[in-house]
Amino acid sequence: MVDLSHFVTSGMPVFPCYPPVQVLPWCARSIWGFEGNVYFMTDHTGTHVDAPYHFHEKGKHTGEIRLEKVVGEAVLLDVNVKGLKALITLDQIQDAIKKARTEVRRHDKVLLYTGWDKHWDKPDVMSAYPGISKEAADHFVKLGVDLVGIDSPSIDHPDASKFPVHNTLLPREIIIAENLNNLGKIRARRFNFSAIPLKLKEGTGSPVRAVATV
Ligand SMILES: [Zn+2]
Repeated sequence: MVDLSHFVTSGMPVFPCYPPVQVLPWCARSIWGFEGNVYFMTDHTGTHVDAPYHFHEKGKHTGEIRLEKVVGEAVLLDVNVKGLKALITLDQIQDAIKKARTEVRRHDKVLLYTGWDKHWDKPDVMSAYPGISKEAADHFVKLGVDLVGIDSPSIDHPDASKFPVHNTLLPREIIIAENLNNLGKIRARRFNFSAIPLKLKEGTGSPVRAVATV
């Protein structure tokens, strides 16, 4: 199994609109006989999935996401990009599909490996990340995939106003996974992917322990 998640911890990087994560030790062993923490964090913390409701008022909340959408057969597309604020185009996606030596099937989970996970400890992680174009998102709709995951903080390009990719995928119930880690360690054409969110009734997303079984 390849662990595709980042650690959740106080002071970890967060998207600009969100408050810093704080892990508060709450129940102490010396008083209660056990340890228990309180986590102050958003439902988009670290490696996480986006629920359709995040961008679509009639969309499903996190706890309503069908498990089939976030567990199942997956392909890795190597779009390893150079430079900052890279825009991943439809051409690059199609090239990566050819290089993957397997077709993308209906209901596949598609993971986009950009290499941005190496920036996790760097100051530019939440500002200069790569994202995909609206045309690339339209292509994933056409292919009928269940989920698109990426190792950057947002699947939309940092300069794209109005989040065209989120607004293309989420209303069609294509789940988005962000801040994936270690995608470069997957050495398989097809594998099983799992990123099960918490059953949050009002959730707009959820941190996940994402895993590839190869
Ligand atoms: Zn998100």
